[in-house]
Order: sequence, then structure tokens, then C-alpha cells
Amino acid sequence: MKKLSLLGATGSIGRQTLDVIQQHREDFSLAAFSAGRNIEETRKIIGDFQPKLVSVELREDAEKLKAEFPSLKVMYGEEGLVETAVFEETDMLVNAVLGSVGLRPTLQAIEAGKKIAIANKETLVTAGHLVMAAAKKHNVELLPVDSEHSAIFQCLQGERKKNIERLILTASGGSFRDRTREELKDVTVQEALNHPNWSMGAKITIDSATMMNKGLEVIEAHWLFHLPYEQIDVILHRESIIHSMVEFHDSSVIAQLGTPDMRVPIQYALSYPDRLPLPTARRLNLLEAGHLHFQPMNQERFRMLALAYQAGKAGGTVPTVLNAANEAAVAAFLDGKITFLQIDEMVERALEKHQSISQPDLETIQQTDKETRNFVHSLL
Ligand code: NDP
Ligand code: MG
Repeated sequence: MKKLSLLGATGSIGRQTLDVIQQHREDFSLAAFSAGRNIEETRKIIGDFQPKLVSVELREDAEKLKAEFPSLKVMYGEEGLVETAVFEETDMLVNAVLGSVGLRPTLQAIEAGKKIAIANKETLVTAGHLVMAAAKKHNVELLPVDSEHSAIFQCLQGERKKNIERLILTASGGSFRDRTREELKDVTVQEALNHPNWSMGAKITIDSATMMNKGLEVIEAHWLFHLPYEQIDVILHRESIIHSMVEFHDSSVIAQLGTPDMRVPIQYALSYPDRLPLPTARRLNLLEAGHLHFQPMNQERFRMLALAYQAGKAGGTVPTVLNAANEAAVAAFLDGKITFLQIDEMVERALEKHQSISQPDLETIQQTDKETRNFVHSLL
């Protein structure tokens, strides 16, 4: 029985993680979790899973919950996220919180020796060098949840890193894959939120439409698999059936396939190296799919992908700026404050303005993250 703590339980990945736990009560239990502001859902999760520790974003919500559940330990804010991540009774952390707020809890969980299933890609983008160095130092395993990285991780079982020619990440193209840049001028939030293949949280759905998601994933792959950017490629694959591939020196390519269902990579991270049944997942029917399509990525059209490669290669605090500017700009777009194309523009402006600092420590990263968000807000 693995005892889990789950950050971001009320989100898209969080709820699907709870579904996996629910289907395997004899293998997993939920000892601690965090939520943001969705208190209704938080109450329901407490009732269903009987955890010992819960953390929410706001103090007033924590006080309400304390009054309602006297035997439960309730915390709030960033401290609460950290305490949830390191809760002594758990064996493993599932980090499915949104954004770079997941960085400190991840680092502390590594120091506490917790195995981590990581969905929270912003953490690896903003401070991959710190996270991977800490994981190495404390001999902690990071298991990918992102479907592309889970696919690559699965393709690499029993393989040696020295035999890898390149990683090939697949991209669905997001909500606007068939539109030109010109046709993106007046798109609405609702249109952008309408992803053709995957059902996900709002921020990552927008990131998929701008192609920033794939850019973040390239940086995530660089850190998780310790490979230079020159060995990480992206191709457009509209069906999202091949979740990613690895090409080896002998020209052999191994791919991982499946229907688009995040519960599969979530469960694999939890059960690794075992595989458990998942009866509620839709099985892949290749005869029904019929054809698979592939296209090169157009880096002019998807400017954010090119920017992410540049930021990743530049290193230092540049990826922190890329990520923080994007988080702030996407939030502004979702709030109706800027247009879709202004997301790219704000990220570009933040990157142009920034003077990179090499080998940043945690404090420098947090400071850069804050300054970048302030800069984007000043443009609104
Ligand atoms: P959602 O927006 O659906 O969920 C985010 C979760 O984080 C919610 O539980 C939310 O709480 C909580 N949260 C947000 N901000 C804060 C905060 N400041 N303090 C505490 N809690 C907070 O996101 P997703 O589930 O889509 O994504 C989560 C992570 O997983 C992201 O890093 C994303 O890139 C990654 N990912 C997601 C995939 C997907 O299919 N959704 C696929 C691959 C990766 P509340 O709602 O209660 O306010
Ligand atoms: Mg992905």
C-alpha cells in the first residue's frame, strides 16, 4: 500500500489521480492533499478519502474547514503546500499543482526523500537545474506524469541513455492548429479553451493553443532525460495517439501509443515499475483510427516554441522569465484583459528586457519570477 500526498487535488490532474486511487484502494491511499480555492470540492475529497492533512490557499478557508473537521490537520498558503508535500506518513508525492508555486514543495519533498510523480512542469522549467541536482543528491526518483514524458520514460525502459539519437515529442497542435497567425487576432477565450483531443485545466489548454505547452515540455524533457536541446525534436501529430517516441543510434524508433487519457500516465507513475489494470480507460483501436498524420512544426506560426528552445538553451534565469511571463499573460488572457496574440507579445517583451543571471539559486529564481510577473502586470 502506497500512501500518497497530492498537491492540486481539485484540478484536472488532481481529480484524475483521485479516480486512479479510487479504482485501486488496496494499492494506494491518500494521506494528505492540497487544494486552492475550491472548498466545496475539498470537503467532498475529505469525506471520500479521509486524509490526515489538508491544505488550502486561503487562511479563511482553512479556518472554516478546521471548524467543520476538528480531527483533521488543516493548513494554508505556501507553508501548507510544503507541509503537505513532506507529510511524514506518505511515501510519495503527486505534484499536480499549477505553476511555479510548486517549486518549493518539490525541493522540500526531495530533501525529505519522497518519491515524486511530477505533473507540475512549471517547476522543472523554472528551476530544472536545482530540482535535478537535489534529486541526485538525495537519490530521489522523479516519475513523469506528462503524457509525452511518460511515453519517453516507457520507451526507455531497459535502454541506455548513450544509445539515444533523439527524443521526438508529439504535439496535437491545440485548439487553433489549422489557423494562420492572422486568423488568431480575434479568437475568444471560449474558442481557445476548446481543445480537440485532451480535456485539461484552463492554463495548459491555452498553453497548447499557443504551443508554449510544447515549449515547456521540451525544457521539461531536457531536465528529466538529461539530454541537450539538439537531441529533442517536436512534430505535429493531430490524433494524439503516439504520445512520443525515442530514436536510437541504430535508427530504430520506439513509440508509446494509447488513447488520450491522462489517468494512464498518472497510474503508471504511481505503480511503476508495475502496471495495474485500468478498466475504465478506453482501449486503443487502431483499425478505428485508420490513419495517423504527421507534419513538421512551423516555428514562425508557433513562435512560442522557438522562444522556449531559445530560453532553454540560454539557461540561467531565462527559462524562469519565460515561464513566469507566460503564467501571468495566460491568466490575463483568461481574465479577458489581453488578446490571444498578446500572450506571445508579453512573453517576448519580458524576455527582451531581462538580463540573465547564470546558475541562479532558489532565492534568485523566486525574485526573478516575482519581478517578471510585476513587469507583465505593468503592461496590462
Ligand atoms: P488545474 O487548473 O485544473 O488545477 C490546478 C490545481 O492547482 C487546482 O487544484 C488548484 O486549486 C490548485 N492551485 C492553483 N493555484 C494554486 C495556488 N496558488 N495555491 C494552491 N493551489 C493552487 O490544472 P491542471 O490539473 O490542468 O494542471 C496541473 C499541472 O499539471 C500543471 O503544471 C500542468 O501543466 C500539468 N499537466 C496537466 C495536464 C492535464 O491534462 N491537465 C497534462 C500534463 C501536465 P483550486 O482549483 O481548488 O483553486
Ligand atoms: Mg503533455
